Amino acid sequence: MKTVWIIGGGWAGISAAVQGTELGLKVVLFEAKKDLGGRARTVKLPSMQIDNGQHILLGAYQETLALMRKVGLDPQALLHRHRLDLRGVDGRGFKLLGYSWLPSSVQFILGTLFCKGWSAADKFSLFSKALSWATSKFNCEPTLSVKDLSEGLTDHVQECLITPLCLAVFNTPPRDSSGQVFLRVLHDALFSGKDSSDLLIPKSDMGDLLPEAAHRWLISKGCEVRLAERINECPIPNTVTGSTQINNGVDAVILACDATSACSLIEPINSNWANQCRTLEHTHISTTYIQCDDTDFTQLARPILMLESDTGSSSKVTKPAQFVFDRGFLFKNNADQFKASTNKGVLSFVSSFSTISNELISEAVLNQAKNELKLRDIKVIGTISEKRATFCCTPGLIRPAQQITQRIWACGDYLEGPYPSTLEGAVISGKEVIKKMLNQSAQLSQ
Ligand SMILES: Cc1cc2nc3c(=O)[nH]c(=O)nc-3n(C[C@H](O)[C@H](O)[C@H](O)COP(=O)(O)OP(=O)(O)OC[C@H]3O[C@@H](n4cnc5c(N)ncnc54)[C@H](O)[C@@H]3O)c2cc1C
Repeated sequence: MKTVWIIGGGWAGISAAVQGTELGLKVVLFEAKKDLGGRARTVKLPSMQIDNGQHILLGAYQETLALMRKVGLDPQALLHRHRLDLRGVDGRGFKLLGYSWLPSSVQFILGTLFCKGWSAADKFSLFSKALSWATSKFNCEPTLSVKDLSEGLTDHVQECLITPLCLAVFNTPPRDSSGQVFLRVLHDALFSGKDSSDLLIPKSDMGDLLPEAAHRWLISKGCEVRLAERINECPIPNTVTGSTQINNGVDAVILACDATSACSLIEPINSNWANQCRTLEHTHISTTYIQCDDTDFTQLARPILMLESDTGSSSKVTKPAQFVFDRGFLFKNNADQFKASTNKGVLSFVSSFSTISNELISEAVLNQAKNELKLRDIKVIGTISEKRATFCCTPGLIRPAQQITQRIWACGDYLEGPYPSTLEGAVISGKEVIKKMLNQSAQLSQ
């Protein structure tokens, strides 16, 4: 195993390329776009840079943080650490409490005990549910949904805690989200290491968070990075069958592209795998960037606020956004003063699984900002919608395997793995594929 072609330079492809290069492989990384990063990349507008979508990480995303460090970045300088806080504009709602050095589980108990606006029945229902999840070691039947898991919780706790957590992690409502995967994320966030439940919010563009530094690192280590090069046919790796040897100059191929591209590249080679990929459903995320020029406005009360959204209701959607982030607040100490100044007063509103047009979302979000945040003198910079932002991690879903043929592999957030469609899921998948591929190669050569 010497030369490996990786097709797709999102976070999964970057992770595989870094891991492979570090382990001595000759890696060639192909990316269809002009920049690395995939769905989590910087978008350059004439006057400023925004992200392809507002992202948030968790303290539990250990592999992502380790990858950032490996390519020479300091996560502390690039991510704003914020204790898990799901409070709305009025300050009501759930947040972890107590000293930050306390284990997250203790902060969770204190947060529940002193949660503003929750009744004794709400608190009791959450404590007993958390206890039952812990007793089952955060495992459940694979076919259960988050909604099923929440049975016994009061409606209020479901609305204020479970639904927003579910949206943040899966981008789908509780009834459509896998209970088993939810418990895994909950366990890693709340009941593993110190700081693992922290929200890590980018205080720089997504490109600064990994893709650009990874690009430099890869080139410095001899990896060939070929940007703006779309692969339209899956290359066939070198093979030896009996006395016949086919040499195409590549020992293995890793598809690190999105599920749709992987599906069409693999169709002629392994139609079962392609069919499994095709059955995956995807869901939208729209990010609306708003500029606030109100002279009275300095910053939001917190860098992230939960909003009252009516997405998912049967009536006409008038409040599509579930979260708002204050980029001015987050970017204010950015080392790049130009970025700090262009992001002053910029708010990003996240609307999950809303299928209305960009124009309607922009208009509705503008009204949400005026009515709920009481902002004046605001205008929309733009709305970016990703129709296939995340795959739907539904209950009982069996995800495609990483191995497609003996020498063709895949990595990406949608493949078999412990996490839903997230940066951490993508990074883990990239690292794992190299490990599995080299293990298999070692076994075959014995
Ligand atoms: C708006 C939005 C908000 C999100 N919010 C969060 C969040 O808050 N937290 C979180 O953890 N995750 C979030 N996600 C999910 C996260 O961005 C993805 O899980 C992750 O980026 C997926 O990485 P990937 O490498 O698996 O796939 P991708 O990023 O899709 O990368 C695939 C790459 O392959 C390239 N490619 C495709 N076909 C070809 C071809 N034929 N030849 C060459 N190159 C090709 C593509 O151009 C792309 O760069 C969000 C996603 C979106 C869109």
